[in-house]
Amino acid sequence: MSNCCSNQNSEKRGCEKKSLPQKFTCPENEQEYIKVDIKTILQHVKFPWEHKLDEQKYYFCDDPNCDVVYFGIEGSVINKSQLRTVVGKKEKDENALVCYCFGVNKALAAQNTEIKTYITQQIKKKNCACEVRNPSGRCCLKDFPKQVQ
Ligand SMILES: [Zn+2]
Repeated sequence: MSNCCSNQNSEKRGCEKKSLPQKFTCPENEQEYIKVDIKTILQHVKFPWEHKLDEQKYYFCDDPNCDVVYFGIEGSVINKSQLRTVVGKKEKDENALVCYCFGVNKALAAQNTEIKTYITQQIKKKNCACEVRNPSGRCCLKDFPKQVQ
């Protein structure tokens, strides 16, 4: 965690991020979700130029029963239909992607458990791009089907 606002120069540097919470409540299902970078949203939303994303902070809702994908701290929402990416976590479809970096869908992930090992290796080598390719902005490994050891 950066602590840029704790020193005396903070006012000069304009650290307005200080007061924004890491988690916020989805206006649709009223659960708390983690923030997501605008850079990530821009990779997935249709017509990015029609959204005024940089005017507020956004969060990612992963509830399969909720139509909202991204929601702003000031109440705006971006629904599934406004994205050009299918959010795997929100779909029951076996063809929905789990890993967006390497194109692994749910069916593949369940069939071939070696894939998770491969992806883990690539992540260690920093060959993944989860922070932008995954609509959640986070690592895909937590979304893989649980394996019976
Ligand atoms: Zn939601």
